[in-house]
Parts: sequence; structure tokens; C-alpha cells
Amino acid sequence: MGEQSMKILIAGCGIGGLAAALSLYEAGFRDLSLVEAAPAVRPYGAGVNLQPNAVRELAALGLYEEIAARSATIGRLGYHNHLGQTVWHERRGLAAGHRHPQLAVHRGELLTVLAEAVTRRLGPGAIRTDAKVTGFERAGEGRLRVRLAHRRGGTAKEGVTGSTTGAGLLIGADGIRSAVRATLYPREGAPPASGTVVWRGITRVRPFLGGDSMVVMGDGRWKVVVYPLAGTPGTDGLVPVNWAASRAAAPGEPVDGATRPVPRSAFAPHFDTWALGDLRLREVLAGPDPVVQFPLIDRDPLPRWSFGRVTLLGDSAHAMAPMGSNATTQAIVDARALAHALARDPDAGRDPERALLAYDRERRPAMNRLALMSRAKGPEAVIDLACERAPDGFGRIGEVIDRSELVALTRSYARAGHFDARAANLPSPYSTRASAPAPAAAPAPGVVPA
Ligand SMILES: Cc1cc2nc3c(=O)[nH]c(=O)nc-3n(C[C@H](O)[C@H](O)[C@H](O)COP(=O)(O)OP(=O)(O)OC[C@H]3O[C@@H](n4cnc5c(N)ncnc54)[C@H](O)[C@@H]3O)c2cc1C
Repeated sequence: MGEQSMKILIAGCGIGGLAAALSLYEAGFRDLSLVEAAPAVRPYGAGVNLQPNAVRELAALGLYEEIAARSATIGRLGYHNHLGQTVWHERRGLAAGHRHPQLAVHRGELLTVLAEAVTRRLGPGAIRTDAKVTGFERAGEGRLRVRLAHRRGGTAKEGVTGSTTGAGLLIGADGIRSAVRATLYPREGAPPASGTVVWRGITRVRPFLGGDSMVVMGDGRWKVVVYPLAGTPGTDGLVPVNWAASRAAAPGEPVDGATRPVPRSAFAPHFDTWALGDLRLREVLAGPDPVVQFPLIDRDPLPRWSFGRVTLLGDSAHAMAPMGSNATTQAIVDARALAHALARDPDAGRDPERALLAYDRERRPAMNRLALMSRAKGPEAVIDLACERAPDGFGRIGEVIDRSELVALTRSYARAGHFDARAANLPSPYSTRASAPAPAAAPAPGVVPA
């Protein structure tokens, strides 16, 4: 398709919003702008995983090499009890026959690569920071009036002021506390608390378990997830390792829903004796105080994402509990699916409603299913099952959980997220390539261009 003139406004410059901008640009849309509530697109956060279907889509956007150079390739995933016994183990990405790898990357590094690509391709004025979407209304003649709040003079001290901007399409990529979602669903309220609190960080340690392993260990209430963020150690022989520890409240225990700094002693001692091969949790969880504790939250599935000229994407549409390492993956796939739906509808540049409904129909049922599976702990449920049936450990896992049950719990999740090899090895279903494509990166070994 050729160039499209509809003015598109994207609320939020997280991974989802930036991926949407790049995908829409590739599809021929040129009047694109992004607004970000934060004063800058800053590289916040810790590690995120990109499943092979998201890596395929990033390769289609010409960003594979840049991202892979900043990532660790994950080749193995293990679920273990607190004694280090293996409940489930599988190969991942290229090692499992995928055409694209599973990558683990610092969220900030990924954000930086995407934001730089947006600035390069769309121009330096495409992203406006310090501008928060607060709502929108229909303005007639197929346009929306989007309300913004921004800090006068760029400092909080000088107070918040308001303005509006027009748009022919508004994409709410504004995260789990989305203002666009709240406008569409004004009675929904805050995300429901799960009763689990999470601490997360990055520590430099010696590479463990071959250097490409993601490890999840749990005892039924406490859990820790560990994976590397670099494939090769630095000159100090260490690699950055992402960790997330969590604790589920006991039945009837009051839930601590606050995000606040706590001393490491609030959680780290519980893991002091946990180990797996050459991985020592005591070393991984060591470091300075404080550590931010935050509640694990998600969102209830929605009956609809697209309303007229407005739609939702990523966490604003389907924030899910981080159980299968695929929130970022699904935000990227949403972005690609949305751009594709708009590109293939010849009327979308004038009236995007039909295309937005097609995107909603394609992505929402699968994401709602995945969000509910994640709330039920997704594939990590196998650890709780093992701990429940054998709290003091087991001889052979087959005596505790039947292999067919393990396979069902782990494989069904990958299938629901479309990152099982059968689905993820297909060529990208979302290629639009309208415009002169961005300079394509040479495919890396094992990676087939989408
Ligand atoms: C600061 C931060 C740190 C994170 N760290 C991690 C991590 O370490 N590990 C992990 O697995 N996941 C992390 N996440 C979540 C993860 O990034 C998402 O689950 C996933 O990438 C999907 O992203 P998204 O773009 O849909 O939403 P998000 O990543 O939440 O991005 C939403 C963006 O919208 C902006 N925004 C919010 N409200 C408005 C508004 N009203 N108007 C304009 N802009 C708005 C936010 O500032 C943010 O930049 C983090 C999210 C954030 C915001």
C-alpha cells in the first residue's frame, strides 16, 4: 500500500507504543506521533524476554542485529523445587528448533534501540515527552480530540497544564494503568491485587549452568526467576543476571499492595540455601539496600479493545502476570498485528474502524486466554504442583506428576502465546513493507529473515 495520511496518535512510549510506531511506519503511515507521560523515554526496568515470535517480528522491522547484540540467547529453561530438583526442563529458541532465538535483554536497552529507530525513521519530532493522555472525545468529521496534561516549563514545580490534540486514530499503549482504557472502561478501577509481592534486580555473577539457562525455582509460596542478560562475560568474568524473587501471601494474610523500597533482609535470607548446579541464589540476591518491592498485578480480560477510532495494545489491553515471560513479546506482536490490519484494509486511511475491529478479533481472544492462564501461574504451575504433592522433595518427578500433565501445562501455554515452534517458525503473518524498507540487517546464523 502507498503512503497514508491519517493522523495517528500513540499514547505511551513503552515497548508496545514504539513497536506500533515502527510497524505503522513500515505499513506506509506517515502522520504518526507518540506522547509519553514521563519526562523522557528513559531506560527503566530490568530484564525482559523476547520469545521467538517477537524476535521474528523485530527482524522484520530490521532491528534483529541491534537487539541481539545487547541480549543473551536463552537455550534452556528449567522449573525446579527449592531443593534444586528438576520438575521440568526444556530447550528454548534455536536450541529447540526455532528459526529465531529467545532473547533476554534489559528493558532499557530494548527501549533505547526502538526509540532510536523511531527517531531515525519518523524524525526527531515524533516523540513528545512529558505529555500525558488524560482522555478523549469524538470531535466530529471522523476526528478525535485527545486531552493531554503536561508540565508547564517541563518541571513539576511549575504545575500541570492542559491542551488537546486532534487525531484520526488513537492507540492506547499506555501500560497497565492506561488512561485510554480508563476512558473506555470508566468503572474498571485499579488493577486487582494478586496477593504476591515481587522484588527484582540485576547482579553481576559468574555465568551459571552453561551461560544460556533461565531458571525458575519455588517452594510453593516463595519463588525466584533468574536469567542472564549477556551472552559473554565482561573482563571481570561476570555477566549481568536478572533476578525476580516473589512471595505469595498465605490464605487470609493481609496483602501488602504498596510499591516501596525495602531492605534486602525482607526477602533474600529465605533463598540463602537455594542452589542449582553452580547457581547460588545467595550470590545472585546479594547487593546494596534498598530494593523496590512491588505488588504483582494484572488486568481482567476485556470484552472489547477497539471502539470506533480508538484501540488498546500491550499491557493496556491485556496486562498479565509475569508467569511465562511474554508480556513484552505480546505487546510487539499486537503492534505488528494492528499495523497489518490497518494496512490490508483499503478504507483504513479514511475510516479505521473496520480494521481496528479485525485486529481486536484476531488478538483479543488469544490474549484473554493467555492472561487467564498467566493468572493461574501458566507453565510455572508445575512447580507448585510438585511442591504441593511432594513438599520435602521427590525421587523421580514421574512419581509425583505424570509426564502428560507436565507436557500439557507447559506446551499449552506456548501454544496459547503463539511461540511454540510450529507457529513461530512460520514466516511473519504481519509483513506489510509498504515503503522503502529500513536497511535490512544481515540475518544472523540460525535466523531466517521474516
Ligand atoms: C518503568 C517500567 C519498568 C518496567 N520494567 C519491567 C521489567 O523490568 N521487567 C518486565 O518484565 N517488565 C517490565 N515492565 C513492563 C513491561 O515493559 C511491559 O509488560 C511490556 O513491555 C509491555 O509494554 P507496554 O508498552 O504495553 O507497556 P509499558 O511498558 O508499561 O509502557 C507504557 C508506557 O506508557 C507511558 N504512559 C503511561 N500512562 C500514560 C499516559 N496516560 N499518557 C502517555 N503515556 C503514558 C508509560 O510511562 C510507559 O512509558 C516495565 C514497565 C515500565 C513502565
